[in-house]
Amino acid sequence: MIGSGTAREVLTYAIPLRTRFRGLTVRDGMLLRGSAGWGEFSPFWDYDDDESAAWLRAALEAADDGWPAPVRGSIPVNVTIPAVDGADAHRLVMASGGCRTAKVKVAERGQDLGQEIARLEAVRDALGPDGAIRIDANGGWDLETALARLPILDRAAGGLEYAEQPAASVADLAALRRRLEIPIAADESIRRAEDPLAVVRAEAADVVVLKVQPLGGVRACLSLAEQVGLPVVVSSALETSIGLAAGVALAAALPTLPYACGLATAQLFTADVVADPLLPVDGAIPVRRPGLDVDRAADVAADTDLNARWAARLDAVRGRTNA
Ligand SMILES: [Mg+2]
Repeated sequence: MIGSGTAREVLTYAIPLRTRFRGLTVRDGMLLRGSAGWGEFSPFWDYDDDESAAWLRAALEAADDGWPAPVRGSIPVNVTIPAVDGADAHRLVMASGGCRTAKVKVAERGQDLGQEIARLEAVRDALGPDGAIRIDANGGWDLETALARLPILDRAAGGLEYAEQPAASVADLAALRRRLEIPIAADESIRRAEDPLAVVRAEAADVVVLKVQPLGGVRACLSLAEQVGLPVVVSSALETSIGLAAGVALAAALPTLPYACGLATAQLFTADVVADPLLPVDGAIPVRRPGLDVDRAADVAADTDLNARWAARLDAVRGRTNA
């Protein structure tokens, strides 16, 4: 039950991932239905109720309001390469549905520089010389480590398109941008920051990564993009195709879209809740909003305990929004 005393249809899901990602082997979340369709509410469990309020606003926008009209019909996307070995990285690029851009995870705990070099070399080999390679460190390096590693990884990749969140703080991103030639993208510094515009004031990034759920919806992201005034890469928060559709809607509505987006993550799931998942064809996702498939959703329904945890979480987060 959410909204002004009206019952709202909700479903929860738990879907195994093909490879461990963000420390997860199973992704779980909740889907909410409204007059405009289904919306996804799936904050990771390390997000508290206050932070999760933005995720709920995004879900309610999708369910109740829908999204602004698209200005393009397809979205170029990158394949995401988790912290796997070279052989797996190569295989993932080849199986990516024609993606010409790869985003490679680095700074994974417990891995060394040699493993990162091997992964990047394998990705370059699979993509060929014309493909674009970006890395994502999720803020995992301190300034000195980032300064030492980025030039080495740039060489291993045969040139990096950009480095996403190589360090955690805005000051460190700004320092890296001044001291290295490699373009810098801000992700966590935008979506988990008190003040997303601090990145702009500090001239700490060349590109910003926007994610619909953590930033409170498609319209909120369009407004933020206008304030930031930098090129935007739309990425998913590792969602089902119900959640991904909101990212596709944002990418479709942005006035310009100079980079491939990180929306090809349905590939990381072993199942989906729609009959026709938002997968890339020739490296791009056609702009559309797939409908929920009741049978597929039932196949991946969360068990009773997890369902109860999500119901309790929805109640708690509702208290933090005007919903
Ligand atoms: Mg990122």
